[in-house]
Amino acid sequence: MYPDSPGKLLFTPGPLTTSATVKEAMLRDLGSLDSDFLASVHSIRTRLLALGSYPPEDYECILMQGSGTFVVESVISSVIPRDGKLLVLVNGAYGRRIAQTARVHGIALDVLEVAENRKFTPELVAEHLASLTGITHVAVVHCETTSGILNQVEEIGVVVHGAGAVYIVDAMSSFGAVPIDMAGSHIDFLISSANKCIEGVPGFGFILASRPGLESAKGNARTLSLDLYDQWASMEANGHFRFTPPIHTILAFEQALNELDEEGGVRARGERYRQNHIALCRGMKEIGFEVYLAEEDQSFIITSFRYPSNPAFQFADFYERLWTAGFAIYPGKLSHESCFRIGTIGRITSSDVEALLDAIRLVLREMGVYWVSEKVQEAEPA
Ligand SMILES: *Cc1c(COP(=O)(O)O)cnc(C)c1O
Repeated sequence: MYPDSPGKLLFTPGPLTTSATVKEAMLRDLGSLDSDFLASVHSIRTRLLALGSYPPEDYECILMQGSGTFVVESVISSVIPRDGKLLVLVNGAYGRRIAQTARVHGIALDVLEVAENRKFTPELVAEHLASLTGITHVAVVHCETTSGILNQVEEIGVVVHGAGAVYIVDAMSSFGAVPIDMAGSHIDFLISSANKCIEGVPGFGFILASRPGLESAKGNARTLSLDLYDQWASMEANGHFRFTPPIHTILAFEQALNELDEEGGVRARGERYRQNHIALCRGMKEIGFEVYLAEEDQSFIITSFRYPSNPAFQFADFYERLWTAGFAIYPGKLSHESCFRIGTIGRITSSDVEALLDAIRLVLREMGVYWVSEKVQEAEPA
């Protein structure tokens, strides 16, 4: 356990538990033209590019105000030309949100949807693309935080590239913990945000974009404030955000990047999350909970558990009791199944997961669903 996690521990899809030092980095005021602040912006853009296994000289990093959805909207509304057409691959709520964003902006759209517990195979995407005409852009979510499923962005990217389309990946909940081969996947626009696996606080997101992709976005924006090309041009010209930057969030993020380095980078962070996930699933299965996804499709980011059939289990009650005990879990977001979710990302370790499991056992006993699993009942008689 980290000694510096005051307040609740967040086992959610974000915003996440952050370190005290990340929060402390916000305890100063800087102006948006202050040279210290501009140096932080520059450093963050450079360091985000260096996190990936791709040649940074072919890519650009743009920071954009807002939560993750704003940044997805920035890309969708800025890069697709008036005569373009977007294909969105949907196996969860975040994919559905991308499609909704395109509809709001009047962008020509095709949606390929599969069940929320199924991954897209490259074959299915290839077959679907071959049946359509005029698709210029394809968007997919890497870790669909709705369920915790991890889509094969690299294999799909090869297909998208083969079809000559621009490739947009929402890697919100995976970037910084799951290594992504940006160039090998032919990703033109990768989107993530400050408050997910980099463990910063909410307030902005970022886009890693191929330079040709970005240049072709010029003049395509449908909004002023979310214009990706303009934001990039401004950052390139003088390092400025066009409108008030989330200064304190940026300062916190720079510290979060320092702490990512100290931990050993993306692989080490992913390994800590993987250990969290292993500890969680082992404990939950022992209690008697069922994991929604097949093991091979499941990420270590977030896990969906089915409601137990025991009628004494009421999620709202379960949630409240855990919250009172100091643990925030998350409701489900699946369309057809009653599940709840437990995230294993953020400034938490496997001993925090063990503490959560202890609390879950206790709460279930209080609720009278302690006998979800006979094994647990035998092991720990009340
Ligand atoms: C968190 C998340 C988002 C963005 O959600 P916001 O609430 O706007 O920050 C988008 N896509 C995925 C896959 C996410 O996990």
